Amino acid sequence: MSYGYTGNILHVDLSAKKHWIENPPENFYRTYWGGRALALYYMLKKMKPHIDPLSPDNLLIFAPSVITGTPAPAIPRYTVCAKSPLTGAEGEAEAGGWWGPELKKAGFDALIIRGASSTPVYLWINDGKIEIKDATHLWGKDTGETQKIIREELADDKVRIAQIGPAGENLVRFANIVNELKHFNGRNGLGAVMGSKKLKAIAVRGTKPINLYNKEKINQVTKNITKRVMDNSLSRDLRNLGTPGVVRGFYEAGCLPSYNWTTGYFQEGENLTAETLNKTILKSTKGCYACPIRCKRVVEVDEEGLKVDPSYGGPEYETIVSLGSLCGISDLRFIAKANELCNKYTMDTISTGMTIAFAMQCYQEGLLTKEDTEGIDLTFGNKEALLILIEKIAHREGLGDLLSQGSYLVAQKIGKDAEKFIHQVKRQEIPMHDPRVKTGVGLQYALSDYGADHMKAPHDPFFKDQDSPGIKEMSGLGILEPISPADLGKKKVALFKLLDIYWTVFDILGVCDFGYVPRSVGTMEELLEIVRSVTGWRTTWFELMKAGERSINMARIFNYREGFTSKDDTLPEVFYHNFKGGPLDGQGAIDKEDFQKALRLHYELMGWNPDTGIPNPAKLLELGLDWLVEEVS
Ligand code: SF4
Repeated sequence: MSYGYTGNILHVDLSAKKHWIENPPENFYRTYWGGRALALYYMLKKMKPHIDPLSPDNLLIFAPSVITGTPAPAIPRYTVCAKSPLTGAEGEAEAGGWWGPELKKAGFDALIIRGASSTPVYLWINDGKIEIKDATHLWGKDTGETQKIIREELADDKVRIAQIGPAGENLVRFANIVNELKHFNGRNGLGAVMGSKKLKAIAVRGTKPINLYNKEKINQVTKNITKRVMDNSLSRDLRNLGTPGVVRGFYEAGCLPSYNWTTGYFQEGENLTAETLNKTILKSTKGCYACPIRCKRVVEVDEEGLKVDPSYGGPEYETIVSLGSLCGISDLRFIAKANELCNKYTMDTISTGMTIAFAMQCYQEGLLTKEDTEGIDLTFGNKEALLILIEKIAHREGLGDLLSQGSYLVAQKIGKDAEKFIHQVKRQEIPMHDPRVKTGVGLQYALSDYGADHMKAPHDPFFKDQDSPGIKEMSGLGILEPISPADLGKKKVALFKLLDIYWTVFDILGVCDFGYVPRSVGTMEELLEIVRSVTGWRTTWFELMKAGERSINMARIFNYREGFTSKDDTLPEVFYHNFKGGPLDGQGAIDKEDFQKALRLHYELMGWNPDTGIPNPAKLLELGLDWLVEEVS
């Protein structure tokens, strides 16, 4: 009997309109576990290098994990993977919500989609039964309308729906996928891959319980974690303030990304804080499947001409900054509206805000004129222009058609030095965390296989002193000594290596980063106990860390096959210069040579070629990836 996993992987070929179920052996699950590791196995085995990401040859993979769908707290996540149309590299994005657990309860450990339909369709997965249904009547509809129609059609309001809006249909390169209208597989343009397959939605209903090896133990651990949520300052702050809780610290310190990264000082920062949000537009809080923390915000604006529908949730920290201070905007009502529009149309708010802020700077510098913008005044701070541009990008109209390609390709098109004003790694726009005040985040940006990302490893401040949660709670990984957030020496690189692998374990297990140490209340021991009690496997953190490392190496090989090497592990130029304005004026520049040395040391620690960053055959053998050795020989 299998525990935790169902033993069924669902394959769907949209070109041939057929499906089949694969039953891998136990060892497969214990090697690849779920999430990105499981997805990369199929991407490396079944996808040829150099395919067009928007062609039927791309695979679109939805993968929860062997422990998803159990009562254990804060483990709702599933990964979507494909070759990314934004970066051309391995594309992946994790989402919480309910869809991943529902897929497991419907009888499947993963869903692998290939081919493309000639007309719009949606998938209906109902307790093991599969149907490909016509979606012609849904094409062009926003996510709220689509969810309503599908639930009415299937006569079940508990159906969980992952779907794309018009931006995905129109192949916007940073379109995302949403479930329950507010939980996003946000980055890498995976919604465009879904759009290219003419797949509007995947509706799932599952009522089968998941076999658990030791239900009593899981319930006990769950009870213990839940009891501590309000005593732990990190999980309590997440409940009370959500991710916007970090705005205040960044704004007061002078490192809040503003005006397309030209400064970290935003004079109206107070308007963007979680405290202001709570006082003005917060309606309620929400959570994900089996999570006692409930960190999600739900906002509402009820003003004539500016209504914000609470069904679309509320802005996270990244959204408040990318659609706010980065564009010089300090009005939370407009940011909430911009967030609602992105959610209705399914566009990644980080890339959307970054691309619009870049266009605003081009306008300021005279690289874009009113003629190029069809008369729209793109001055920083123009909040009406923000809403107009989001509409135009989603529908690929006028200037929006150009911006729908993401800032890297737009800069190529504009020419005339526009490249100076983009901030990206592997063509993906950087998130809203400044590596000049936490260098480990710089390593994340540079080394992420899926383009700049801030969720690759826990951030430096969690390890800054003896009382920090990372130092107090993670000695089991050998993390004993605090390191300053601004340090970029050898010990920081060694710490980063461990943390990168540790959070990759979260990704392959579907664990929320906000549920466990160092970011929250659950301990490493409790998480290990959950994995053991769900699966019955007498596993250890050693085995889990090896699984995490395995998936990092698989992603590295996938990218190497696509032509990526160490030359693509870069940091945007802006971080090699000091802050301008505010409390950090004239400070903070990262030393380029130190950063290069850090990258080289990281390659060595990982068992990769220090010049090229390509995994050595010996490392692949150690991780049981002998089937990939030929790729690097
Ligand atoms: S902590 Fe927040 S994001 Fe994570 S599972 Fe809970 S509600 Fe969802």
